[in-house]
Amino acid sequence: MYKISEIFNSVQGEGSYLGCPASFIRLSGCNLRCRWCDTDFSLKHIMTVEEIIDNIKYEKVIITGGEPTIYDLKPLLLELKKRGKVTMLETNGTNPTDDIRHLLDWVVCSPKPDKNWTINEKCIFDELKYVVDGQFNPDKHIKKEIKEKYKDRIWLQPESSCAAVRMKQAFDFAMKDSALRVGLQLHKIIDVK
Ligand code: SF4
Repeated sequence: MYKISEIFNSVQGEGSYLGCPASFIRLSGCNLRCRWCDTDFSLKHIMTVEEIIDNIKYEKVIITGGEPTIYDLKPLLLELKKRGKVTMLETNGTNPTDDIRHLLDWVVCSPKPDKNWTINEKCIFDELKYVVDGQFNPDKHIKKEIKEKYKDRIWLQPESSCAAVRMKQAFDFAMKDSALRVGLQLHKIIDVK
């Protein structure tokens, strides 16, 4: 059984798969409390793996939260892979993903200020997303070796409560460092979930 906040079908609004239709499984609960968090990850349903799968429409399945790694994701991922799904995870990077990595096609790590933008050394991921929130500074908060390894896969996401100012900051950071990319939230622009 999993604690679910919501399951919905939409487009991926961020990162390398921007614009792809996908099914989203938002698990309830998070181990952080970011001051600008705008995600409702409250508990709405308790569901079996089968019930979750019954609500999945697309080939690409994005497991998000809250923070999904506070759960044992193996049973869910095994079933998704058995059904040929492309499995993607969005995590804040505080927990290991090495034990489930073989069941995941893509992992987005979004380090948070609550943990001083640090990443668990056993969190294995494909791309990075940082929220440009007025405190974030890539020179201070992204290590040189991370920039080299993930060049072109490090997204700067403007914090949405102050989007115009933060977008300009993200732009200025990217203009100074070509490892970085300015990110968008497509779902907000086209006004879908
Ligand atoms: S890690 Fe994400 S879901 Fe959790 S409090 Fe921070 S922004 Fe919200």
